[in-house]
Amino acid sequence: DNTRVKKPDWLRVKLPIGQEYRSVRNTVDNHKLHTICESGNCPNMGECWGEGTATFMILGNICTRSCGFCAVATGKPLPVDWDEPQRVAEAIHLMKVKHAVITSVDRDELLDGGSIIWHNTIKAVKALNPDTTLETLIPDFRAQKENIQRVIDAHPEVVSHNLETVERLTRQVRIQAKYHRSLDTLRILKEGGMRTKSGIMLGLGETKEEVIEALKDLAAVKVDVITLGQYLQPTPKHLPVVRFVHPDEFKELRNIGYELGFDYIESGPLVRSSYHSERHVVAGFGR
Ligand code: SF4
Ligand code: SF4
Repeated sequence: DNTRVKKPDWLRVKLPIGQEYRSVRNTVDNHKLHTICESGNCPNMGECWGEGTATFMILGNICTRSCGFCAVATGKPLPVDWDEPQRVAEAIHLMKVKHAVITSVDRDELLDGGSIIWHNTIKAVKALNPDTTLETLIPDFRAQKENIQRVIDAHPEVVSHNLETVERLTRQVRIQAKYHRSLDTLRILKEGGMRTKSGIMLGLGETKEEVIEALKDLAAVKVDVITLGQYLQPTPKHLPVVRFVHPDEFKELRNIGYELGFDYIESGPLVRSSYHSERHVVAGFGR
């Protein structure tokens, strides 16, 4: 079936141009860093980079997993780069941002799952940028407590781990992940005193009822912040968009989420995990 659902007007975005954009481009390139903005073909690059901010992706740009929605390359990753934490810290320093977001590929081949580099990166960023708040969007670390604890011990302001989709579609959307294991990871983070955050993509074939069930599961492990956004197919090889969810439905889900007790919900077609992330640090922002 070659019929494609046509992109609606509400998904039109700013073009990535301008001085701030070029400055972010140079900082990323000069420090030999990767960003999920680029690796994930994010539609918000015009806006975020234009405001001088980007989301760094650490531990290389080759992932050991192969989620059906994700544009990051799958394969055998390069060896761990122990100098990367310092380069990330320096790049954030140059960008002079009040808030930064860091994510990573999954490194299931490493015994520590990459958690030592995660720990070192958070520490290095904080040492060089004591006034910058930090969100870390982490892998599930197979819900291994020892590895998750390394992130907790470095004290980022917000830790997110995305559920990505509803329970029924998890196998199809992220084959190596498990719905309840991701919930366990979020629970362990909360038990460690972290402010936690999770996200779900809409338009992959889930029903509204299933989204509400997933939100209830996230509320049960006391997640603080939720992001809901439209899934966009990064290349024709990735999972197709089943439906473009109307902005009104995003609003409705946001209201349902607030009734479930979440502290902050970012819900809209262009919302990505790291979108408006600076607002997610403070409890009750924008309510
Ligand atoms: Fe990058 Fe996140 Fe902004 Fe997209 S929303 S451009 S991934 S910072
Ligand atoms: Fe992409 Fe993360 Fe899945 Fe790797 S684990 S394929 S980076 S979504």
